[in-house]
Amino acid sequence: MDASPLRKEIMSDEIISLIPKAIRMYDLKVLDITGGAPEMHPKFKELVVKAKSQNVEIIDRCNLTILREKGYEDMSDFLALNKVRVVASLPCYLEENVDSQRGKGVFKKSIEALILLNKLGYAKSDTNLIIDLVYNPTAAILPPSQQELEEGFRKHLYSNYGVKFNKLLVLANMPIKRFSEYLKHTNQLESYLDLLKENHNEKNLPLVMCKDTLSIDWKGNIYDCDFNQQLEINNFLKPLTLVELVSQNFKLEGQEITVADHCFGCTAGSGSSCGGSLT
Ligand code: SF4
Repeated sequence: MDASPLRKEIMSDEIISLIPKAIRMYDLKVLDITGGAPEMHPKFKELVVKAKSQNVEIIDRCNLTILREKGYEDMSDFLALNKVRVVASLPCYLEENVDSQRGKGVFKKSIEALILLNKLGYAKSDTNLIIDLVYNPTAAILPPSQQELEEGFRKHLYSNYGVKFNKLLVLANMPIKRFSEYLKHTNQLESYLDLLKENHNEKNLPLVMCKDTLSIDWKGNIYDCDFNQQLEINNFLKPLTLVELVSQNFKLEGQEITVADHCFGCTAGSGSSCGGSLT
């Protein structure tokens, strides 16, 4: 959530080496890898290959532009070969909007990367290679309907660039960190929190991602979700780390989840998670 090319944090080899063990011990089904740019980690490929041999689904939260960078020319082939599901942020299908948010030239590089992935079989029905795009609104509003927006993205990207993708994942903006600073700065924090609370939808509760996900930070600390990780709030089996998780058998089911006001970002309207809308 506060990612930037200037950040220097990197998960140690020791922590990375515990991930396959945790997968085995806890029969985990999905390994969802995010960054920064996770592909830049020297152990990224090794981790993917090891996890793949354990039959877990692997998700790479990819910024797309990395696939066009020098030194990463073989990364798209590697992802396809290992059937890694790519989840890529593309805040809009219009070049000027993407470039104004993410920097000049980002849209062009992102489209080039999507074309490359399509050529390798991503988003083709018979290949089982999945590329999902991620959208979240830039303003202090609830996200639009995932289905309607997906249609717009699909039409525009295909007719203008021949680009195909599987699903568009629509996420709400969480009122924490950078977005919370923006809201405070523009005097909208209170009204945005009210908007989320007014639109709280009970139907989303069984589906929020903290119910079946563990979030592990670069130091190996474990949280209920990425948002709690960002806020460093954790009273779940305190203080649980990956080292402890693999050194003894914890009962993960039924543990309490730490909640606070930001959780309404997950439960408002159609709901929101790393996998898009909930209901
Ligand atoms: S923000 Fe709250 S509701 Fe959402 S995943 Fe995290 S703990 Fe669960």
